Amino acid sequence: MHIDILTLFPEMVSGVFDASILKKAHEKEKYSYNLVNFRDYSTNKHMKVDDYPYGGGAGMVLTPQPVFDATEAVIKQRHTKPRIILMSPQGAPYNQQKAEELAKEDHLIFICGHYEGYDERIRKHLVTDEISIGDYVLTGGELGAMVVIDSVVRLLPDVLGNTESAPEDSFSTGLLEHPHYTRPADFRGMKVPDVLLSGNHAKIAEWRRKQSLKRTFERRKDLIDDAALTDKEKKQLDEK
Ligand code: SAM
Repeated sequence: MHIDILTLFPEMVSGVFDASILKKAHEKEKYSYNLVNFRDYSTNKHMKVDDYPYGGGAGMVLTPQPVFDATEAVIKQRHTKPRIILMSPQGAPYNQQKAEELAKEDHLIFICGHYEGYDERIRKHLVTDEISIGDYVLTGGELGAMVVIDSVVRLLPDVLGNTESAPEDSFSTGLLEHPHYTRPADFRGMKVPDVLLSGNHAKIAEWRRKQSLKRTFERRKDLIDDAALTDKEKKQLDEK
């Protein structure tokens, strides 16, 4: 997978690529990335990338020219049919399902806005996806793009080792993950559940599944409807 990030503030994202799984995966050539400052593509003599909104109002709007030209340039370099993702609080709410969908692609382009917003023609005629990372407004799209990129890269083949595996993670199963415990078995009188010390793998798996269901039911009832549950599990939840 190759990822292009179109941003006016490359320094906001470079540090994130330089640590942890994103760094390791990059070193192992599981993906490549390029930070593109779309100001470099501005044909304005002062390299301007924004302008006042037609009709008046507060804030500056990103002009279409540098964003279209930068996007077209990175597509030309790779001859791909990429997903072109606009980061925007007005986009579709991001989730694990979308991460899994994007992880199957060869080329992703992220467009990170700033200021009041984008010229609407970018939204209408350039992008394939519009993603929001939540119902709040950030200063720019960079943090959101890195949230998406981190969640996608960790799903690429051979990126996570056995010790960090993803299939059990929250949302991958449709449920929140079960609780975890590690040594010591007794910390200040707070004890690890006996079943986890039993060595009985079937019983441990059963306990984990039950805890996962309980946690999802208590914290995120909205996920339960779409989760793949057995009849017995559905009955148990009905009784709660
Ligand atoms: N005026 C815009 C609106 O109300 O929709 C918000 C602009 S915001 C200050 C600037 C940029 O930050 C956006 O263009 C987008 O790239 C990014 N951004 C802000 N909130 C976001 C969110 N929740 N998810 C993804 N990107 C976001």
